[in-house]
Amino acid sequence: MRHSLDGRVIKAVGGLYTVATEHGRYDCNVRGIFRKHGFTPLVGDYAVVEKIDEQKKTGTVTKFRERKTELVRPRVANVDQAVIVLAAADPPVNPDLTDRLLLLAEERGLEIVICVNKIDLDDQYATALKPYESAGYGVFFVSAKTGGGISGLRAALAGKVSVLAGPSGVGKSSIINSLTENETMQTGEISRKLGRGKHTTRHAELIEISDGMFVVDTPGFSSLELKHIPRDILPGLFPEFRPYLDGCRFNDCRHINEPDCAVKAQTGAGISAERYDRYVMIWNEIGDNEWT
Ligand code: GDP
Ligand code: ZN
Repeated sequence: MRHSLDGRVIKAVGGLYTVATEHGRYDCNVRGIFRKHGFTPLVGDYAVVEKIDEQKKTGTVTKFRERKTELVRPRVANVDQAVIVLAAADPPVNPDLTDRLLLLAEERGLEIVICVNKIDLDDQYATALKPYESAGYGVFFVSAKTGGGISGLRAALAGKVSVLAGPSGVGKSSIINSLTENETMQTGEISRKLGRGKHTTRHAELIEISDGMFVVDTPGFSSLELKHIPRDILPGLFPEFRPYLDGCRFNDCRHINEPDCAVKAQTGAGISAERYDRYVMIWNEIGDNEWT
């Protein structure tokens, strides 16, 4: 007889919460005290389940562990990682869009990996990703169609909650389907979930790929707007700039046209010129209202 189990909310519908634990899933209500205190449990929250009925697989959430992070769109707690999904072709890599997605994920403090899908369509895919690899991002080349590279990607997701983000048509749903192949969950069930996700606004769910490995069923970062990002944090959101940020002559160097700028000095060497140009472009775009 189990008295208490630790788990994670993977679904929340109308006050009923599905909690995934190491002993399976439980449909749970939550103690009224949470509502009284204005606490809204979210998908992704860590929960403690008690009053367990093993036959019915039901229980009561008596405690939520501290929420580490909260993503707004989709509204999910404790997301660890963003997988930026691109395609080798159809559609081809769009560097401007890619940098925006990376910045949004960096600003949220997420771990980041890049996944290039559809490598079955074009074998020239590696070149466009060089700037990102040299910036330090892990890049995975996969084909959801052939299954190539999927095991490497699966390893990068182990033990984490990941949100997939990327342009429409790059194969995000297909990747989730191939990740779950041969796993406990039925692919058909996932396809239905994903299909539904495309057409209606509703609460996000976590799809459990295997023990402790989850993906959010709804793509992240539906808006690519960066204007909320203050200019003074922008340089630090480019990981390849970070080693040089203390090396500029001026403490408040904007890395645009100051003399003795360590970032500019690295452009074309440790920092790709393409990424630096995008930094300048975005710096101009986001305006200086936050600059002190
Ligand atoms: P999403 O909008 O990012 O979720 O993309 P989908 O998963 O719906 O895929 C868009 C289209 O690309 C579909 O027609 C898929 O069949 C196709 N597709 C997905 N992955 C691959 C792949 O690895 N290779 C090829 N050739 N086509 C793919
Ligand atoms: Zn500088």
